[in-house]
Amino acid sequence: MRRRAFFIDRDGTISEEVGYVNHPSRYRVFPFAAEAVKLINRAGWLAVLVTNQAGVARGYFKEDLIAEVHEQLKQGLASEGARLDAIYYCPHHPSVGDAPYRAECDCRKPKPGLIARAAEELDIDLARSWTIGDRYGDTELARNAGTRAALVLTGYGRGEFEYQRGSWRHQPDLIAENLLEAVREILRTDDDAKHERATG
Ligand SMILES: [Mg+2]
Ligand SMILES: [Zn+2]
Repeated sequence: MRRRAFFIDRDGTISEEVGYVNHPSRYRVFPFAAEAVKLINRAGWLAVLVTNQAGVARGYFKEDLIAEVHEQLKQGLASEGARLDAIYYCPHHPSVGDAPYRAECDCRKPKPGLIARAAEELDIDLARSWTIGDRYGDTELARNAGTRAALVLTGYGRGEFEYQRGSWRHQPDLIAENLLEAVREILRTDDDAKHERATG
């Protein structure tokens, strides 16, 4: 059977929004992140990170740094018993930098390329999956990719929600304080999960 997934934004959602993470020392995972990912693991859903990293195209850092930061993230989560199943990122920018990173790609969020690739490679049922992020662009991403959308109030979330939601074309399906609350709420209200609990 096709798997269900949580597509999780990186900066502002699983880790602090600090502007460009141009060195691993700037990267700070939220204290609740491991618990959230563990709940996802235990529920049998996939935990998939999806992130724009245009700092590469902009020349702020090399693509290697992204791998280093993601290794740090994975190890930090693993030390608390949590597992990210996959990480997909877009290093491009449509109008800044040099080829191959200066590109009108199909993967820069809110374009659905990263999620489409994950769905293909990991056999994911998008209609029964969720995208969680701190920016309105993540809600647009969810719409474009065909998943449901949760907005978290960490990172840019609270400000965007308070001051900009009047102009949003789409509203998120769920608004939550943070990633852990979002995951809890989604799993708690999920019909299939309830069914699985009832039937043991
Ligand atoms: Mg973000
Ligand atoms: Zn891209």
